[in-house]
Amino acid sequence: MKAVGTQRTPLIAGNWKMYMGGRAGHELARGVAERAKGVGGVDVVVAPPLTVLAAIAHELEGSRVQVSAQNLYPKDEGAFTGEVSAPMLLEAGCKWVIIGHSERRQYFGETDASVAEKVAAAQKAGLRPIVCVGELLPEREAGKTLEVVYRQVDAFSRILGDQPGFGVIAYEPVWAIGTGKVAGPEQAQEVHAAIRQRLTGQSAELASATRVLYGGSVKPDNAAGLLACQDVDGALVGGASLKVADFAAIIEAAV
Ligand code: PEP
Repeated sequence: MKAVGTQRTPLIAGNWKMYMGGRAGHELARGVAERAKGVGGVDVVVAPPLTVLAAIAHELEGSRVQVSAQNLYPKDEGAFTGEVSAPMLLEAGCKWVIIGHSERRQYFGETDASVAEKVAAAQKAGLRPIVCVGELLPEREAGKTLEVVYRQVDAFSRILGDQPGFGVIAYEPVWAIGTGKVAGPEQAQEVHAAIRQRLTGQSAELASATRVLYGGSVKPDNAAGLLACQDVDGALVGGASLKVADFAAIIEAAV
């Protein structure tokens, strides 16, 4: 049970990654909307691949599930073959965009600087950023978790500070993503509290308004323990967001 005075509405977001790009995605979206219908007091977001983004956003209109993109290009338009901008994503029905996921940092060369540029582009367009941070296993083992996470957060927190509460941070220890190795509630709470403290250095309003999600092997059987932590305001869920029953159980664990 969270301490009285915690005003942040929990947010459960499903990152479908490069799965569910066709009919299966539509079925999953419909299933999530149906199960989320009866659960109040939690925001629910799904991030399908681009091929079904607009169609799913259209289908989910009027439901309590919002749609996120998994990436964007930080220019409004231009000769950037293969890329999609924040205004285009908004027009497609997205309200959110995941930025700086560790897979993008690892496989697509994203840096703290490019993440900041994307956060600024999203926010300028009115698209709500879910910005991912998190340390690699060797960094944790070397005792550098907070040093790494502070560096990542510092790169974009000033931009979030322009509109406190509009953007969200997801703490995703890279060693826990898709591995089945989850950070324990105490490990998660320690880093979440440190992130909030870091934001306080910028503004108390930013620190109290920013939702900090946990991500990394969140499943129905570990969600409740993580979500009960004082500074864990929800979850960014990968694998378990691909099954309606699992994702619904995590949504239910948030309230
Ligand atoms: C993710 O992709 O953001 C994620 C947390 O994945 P998983 O839940 O599968 O670890």
